[in-house]
Amino acid sequence: MTVETLDPQTKTDVLAALFAGTFPGEFWDCQDDKCDCTYQRIGMWTNPYIAETLEVRMCCIWAELYKQFPEFVRVTPAYIDGNKKEWVTEPMPWNGEDEMPKAIWYRQLAREQGRSVDDIRVEYANRDELRPKGKPNGEPLPLFIRFDGDWVAIDLRR
Ligand SMILES: [Zn+2]
Repeated sequence: MTVETLDPQTKTDVLAALFAGTFPGEFWDCQDDKCDCTYQRIGMWTNPYIAETLEVRMCCIWAELYKQFPEFVRVTPAYIDGNKKEWVTEPMPWNGEDEMPKAIWYRQLAREQGRSVDDIRVEYANRDELRPKGKPNGEPLPLFIRFDGDWVAIDLRR
């Protein structure tokens, strides 16, 4: 470890920074619900040779880009049922093995009630008992992406 080769003052500074909360205590995550983006996406790079970690909330940056280029953005209020190859407009009830991630639950409620995610988060933050529980042997959380002309199922749990 390079910490052992640091001079005492640098070591003191690093430890002070750690305890002062200068360094993040946790990494951003694509389900951390720390922004209102529908699809939270995080870029993360860390390199020991540079001693630097870069985290980017790609979703928030993209949201700003969407505002600048609305002609290149299309949002459809439906999802593709990959089996039937049909559009479905109603949010599907949770059927995952694990309990429904809060971030997805808030967004589903927002969609069902026609409200903002922020509004829902405030109302449901202390009503976790209502959050759908997991079902053993539940279905994988489906996400279909168009790849080379075909719809391909992606399991978000992996
Ligand atoms: Zn975001």
